[in-house]
Amino acid sequence: MTRVEYEKLLKRISDKIIDSKKDSGKRFEIPTPDIMWQGNRTFLRNFAEFPKVFRRDAGKLLQYLSKEFATPAEIAGDKAIFVGKRAPQDFELLLQRYVKDYLECPTCKIPDTKIEKANRLTFLVCEACGAKSIIKGQYA
Ligand SMILES: [Zn+2]
Repeated sequence: MTRVEYEKLLKRISDKIIDSKKDSGKRFEIPTPDIMWQGNRTFLRNFAEFPKVFRRDAGKLLQYLSKEFATPAEIAGDKAIFVGKRAPQDFELLLQRYVKDYLECPTCKIPDTKIEKANRLTFLVCEACGAKSIIKGQYA
């Protein structure tokens, strides 16, 4: 096999992998919070993953966590830093709640939704069933 043939083969295999990922990747999963403590601070080391997976604004998500924990928080690169010690389960719980309140379509319960803002209202538009509903919270 020549190098070119070999590269073509590799490409074909990786295309296949990408294709099969597309099919099976429909299931939405909340990433596992990667937590580290330092002094009286909690580092959520993979913070950047969440807004990416959720397709939501990183700043708003941070505000949400900060408000729910009632503690100051800031973004540092891919990480988020919270004052005080927080357990990974606390993050999991809050992130699940965020998904329920800010991502899940009330009609079909699928989190494939996007945010639309109009007339000072925030709408959740479902990409699966097309339902449009008002989001009451302020962290979308
Ligand atoms: Zn829906």
